[in-house]
Amino acid sequence: MQAFISFGSNLGDQVSLVESAIDALRNSDSVDVMAVSPWYRSKAVGPGQQSDYLNGVIELDTALSGHELLDLLQALELDHGRERIIRWGSRTLDLDILFFDNQHLSTERLIVPHPRCTERPFVMQPWADIAGDLILDDKKVADIAAELTDDQLCLWQDNPID
Ligand code: ATP
Ligand code: MG
Ligand code: MG
Repeated sequence: MQAFISFGSNLGDQVSLVESAIDALRNSDSVDVMAVSPWYRSKAVGPGQQSDYLNGVIELDTALSGHELLDLLQALELDHGRERIIRWGSRTLDLDILFFDNQHLSTERLIVPHPRCTERPFVMQPWADIAGDLILDDKKVADIAAELTDDQLCLWQDNPID
């Protein structure tokens, strides 16, 4: 099954956290990492003052079900210090399933395609970098990304948080 997941971090040592999460996926027997997007820096949207995010998208190939993949990602979030205190508050690591094998799922734990992804430049831009031709809701990922604007979204490598 082809899956795309987003990662985001705006708390702690963001680079190490994301590198460690990607390594864990690469070392996992249940998923193959097919592509990792360039990393972006984005302004936080959410309650209160928050640090900028490190964001990107990963393509996976997996024999897991959507819910099994969610279990794996949530375990990884916990391994990387994720605490859920305030909705959309700062977090060490967020791993969301954007797309799972063209499936449309809507259960209590898992909705795919991710319902808010097409509004988010910090998701659609890195996704377009690795899978611009993928069709989502009858549109190409690259075209959805091109319709979004965010003047403050930039490549992490051009503007890293020290
Ligand atoms: P957002 O979904 O708006 O990006 P968030 O990532 O901060 O918000 P979380 O606190 O990480 O939200 O997750 C809240 C719940 O969302 C999880 O417990 C999970 O069961 C559920 N969820 C539903 N669909 C998905 C999905 N596609 N990927 C990840 N989690 C999902
Ligand atoms: Mg999220
Ligand atoms: Mg999440």
